[in-house]
Amino acid sequence: MAGASVNWAGNVTFRAREVHRPATLEELRRLVAGGSRVRALGTGHSFNDVADTSGAHISLAGLPQAVELDTAASAVRVGAGVRYAELGRWLSGRGHALANTASLPHISVAGSCATATHGSGDGNGNLATSVSALDLVTAGGDLVTLARGDADFPGAVVSLGALGVVVGVTLDVLPAFDVRQVVYEELPFDAVTEHFDEITSAAYSVSLFTGWRGPYVDQVWMKSRVDEGPGSPDPTRFGARRAAVPRHPVPGVSAEHCTEQLGVPGPWSERLPHFRPDFTPSAGEELQTEYLLPRRHAVAALRALDGVRDRIAPVLQISEIRTVAADDLWLSPCHREDCVAVHFTWVKDTAAVTPVIGLLEERLAPFEARPHWGKLFATPPGVLRSRYPRLADFQALTRRYDPAGKFGNDFLERHLFG
Ligand SMILES: Cc1cc2nc3c(=O)[nH]c(=O)nc-3n(C[C@H](O)[C@H](O)[C@H](O)COP(=O)(O)OP(=O)(O)OC[C@H]3O[C@@H](n4cnc5c(N)ncnc54)[C@H](O)[C@@H]3O)c2cc1C
Repeated sequence: MAGASVNWAGNVTFRAREVHRPATLEELRRLVAGGSRVRALGTGHSFNDVADTSGAHISLAGLPQAVELDTAASAVRVGAGVRYAELGRWLSGRGHALANTASLPHISVAGSCATATHGSGDGNGNLATSVSALDLVTAGGDLVTLARGDADFPGAVVSLGALGVVVGVTLDVLPAFDVRQVVYEELPFDAVTEHFDEITSAAYSVSLFTGWRGPYVDQVWMKSRVDEGPGSPDPTRFGARRAAVPRHPVPGVSAEHCTEQLGVPGPWSERLPHFRPDFTPSAGEELQTEYLLPRRHAVAALRALDGVRDRIAPVLQISEIRTVAADDLWLSPCHREDCVAVHFTWVKDTAAVTPVIGLLEERLAPFEARPHWGKLFATPPGVLRSRYPRLADFQALTRRYDPAGKFGNDFLERHLFG
């Protein structure tokens, strides 16, 4: 199927000459085997050209979106194009849960795991850490299954699409749980730096939102599991106040877009994402950047950013600070390090935002920051590569699975291989 397309944000026009939407696995395998340059496209929510190709895109949206639960193994196998929105509803309805979600449920499972997309929570790894197996169509059109415990597996989960087209993902599931979401406002910045560990550990998932406009964090979103009791300590102890009405993190946007707050208990799938599936997530008109850095640097890094808040605030809609647990996935920004993730939702003005991204990278350089693979960054390739101790193994894995570079693209060449 023809069609020059753009990403969700509209800031990347894909070079891909066509988009194929195979209706069967056999058709997909033939397309991969017969193509000279192909690449899987998820829901296109990345803000850079990670998903682009000079050849053809393969979308999984036309394949049957199968979901199969294996209660004995506490696992669910999903067609890779399935989005977290449908999967969440489906699992919830059957008494099961995923450990965590990103801020939005609109994104595909395979595309999210491929870039190490994450939510928040001291004890929660990124979404790729729930993957226990992948079904991958490799360059020759073969269907290969890689499972936890296989030598190639930790290199293949966060793959940036480099190894092939993932057609099935098996995820760990938990018994369903309910969550209460409470928003607090105007937490003093000094409280954040003095009590960072207490605040981020006070609930199952904690997000701090700030516009970097003053010596405070605008909102603290605390998502507590009902079966674990209310989050503690409550941020009012540090000077915040409990919001009396529902809030949206982006100033001026209706809270109708957001999942239910004010402490009303509800299923995990309707509280862990900030945004509801039937509404535009975040601001809609925006660019995004995010850095993940070892959490031992969290307070120093936040102070360094606060030192340039007068440069950040004018081009920012909102920033989000989250925590993510360490994992062993080779290209995960949290490889072997518990992380703090500092995210920026910018105004949609590349020229105005680019110099500020450069400034952030200067300020964060001492803290081993790794950029989110699916967002905008300017980290020099040499620096980026030095932050991934298993990069040489990933390069070797890619050469083995894709010797002719069928799944390669400019992004990989620029940042990982060049
Ligand atoms: C409004 C908004 C909010 C966001 N919030 C968060 C957040 O809370 N946390 C966070 O970490 N990120 C967040 N992101 C970033 C987003 O989660 C990532 O960019 C994610 O990769 C998007 O998934 P996708 O399906 O759109 O992937 P795409 O952007 O389509 O693709 C991403 C990569 O995955 C590969 N890929 C896709 N499908 C397959 C497949 N089947 N097989 C092999 N490779 C594949 C692509 O080739 C590409 O390399 C947000 C983005 C937006 C727009």
